Amino acid sequence: MGRSSKDKRDIYYRLAKEEGWRARSAFKLLQMDQEFNLFTGVNRAVDLCAAPGSWSQVLSRKLRGREEKGDAEVKIVAVDLQAMAPLPGVTQIQGDITKISTAEEIIRHFEGQPADLVVCDGAPDVTGLHDVDEYIQAQLLLAALNITTHVLKRGGTFVAKIFRGKDVTLLYSQLKIFFSGVTCAKPRSSRNSSIEAFVVCQNYQPPEGYIPNMSNPLLDHSYDVDFNQLEGPNRVIVPFLACGDLSAYDSDRTYPLQLDDSKEYQYTPPTQLPIQPPYQQACHLRRNNLLSKEDAPSASNNNPDSEKTT
Ligand code: SAM
Repeated sequence: MGRSSKDKRDIYYRLAKEEGWRARSAFKLLQMDQEFNLFTGVNRAVDLCAAPGSWSQVLSRKLRGREEKGDAEVKIVAVDLQAMAPLPGVTQIQGDITKISTAEEIIRHFEGQPADLVVCDGAPDVTGLHDVDEYIQAQLLLAALNITTHVLKRGGTFVAKIFRGKDVTLLYSQLKIFFSGVTCAKPRSSRNSSIEAFVVCQNYQPPEGYIPNMSNPLLDHSYDVDFNQLEGPNRVIVPFLACGDLSAYDSDRTYPLQLDDSKEYQYTPPTQLPIQPPYQQACHLRRNNLLSKEDAPSASNNNPDSEKTT
């Protein structure tokens, strides 16, 4: 399988390289913005789980260089466990979104001012066991919600990846305690075959007396407004919205390499190779042949009589 077959695997993967985005996920945020105008009036934005940085690129390109605002007012913070190559106007924090120290660092960077927008495209490494993956994704979303309650201004917006599994209504109801508007959005660049979607939570209004903390809010019953009774009329259903222009490419379709008849197709290398990815050590061991186990002693070595039997 050569380069061209790799390029054919997904239209948004190819477009990301052509347009200089670090990952195809950039289109998901751009398509949600088409629907929700996410960046209007935003000066301080946080990108949680940001590496390799395509959402931070979108924030940087959309928030900076606007005529009506000076770039001095714009502050963007990107947080990830992994290192990420620098981006113009984006401050990086290599840290864990489940830690209070990360929330404090974000607030320090904003000089005590709250953020207008928090986005989170966080995902754990999927195991392939759907129940486990959905559970871990839900935990990451709740961690993102926790840290968001420390840094987001009242009226602010929170966008996060969600897996639409069987317990998703529990998450919706939890989010509705904090935001007056919760919508489930599916950008055209997110494959239909994937249970991935995004919650767009607007107008942050924490409950009266709520004190931000890093514990799992699903286990905190002091704000338990019937969200454990999810049957019948108590069931929380949030609007579902497909995002992106109808003429946008379909991420489940295969397109020819040459999209434009007037231009010959040319391979474009990735915009940003990963920095210190977790698999780097495994690659090093494999390349240096350090992964292979010592040869097991052969049958002939084990058998003291083997020489005699020939
Ligand atoms: N939005 C990114 C982009 O557009 O380039 C892609 C994000 S990638 C799908 C998911 C990221 O979540 C990974 O880089 C991973 O390191 C990060 N992540 C997972 N758990 C995290 C945690 N607890 N704290 C910080 N980052 C985390």
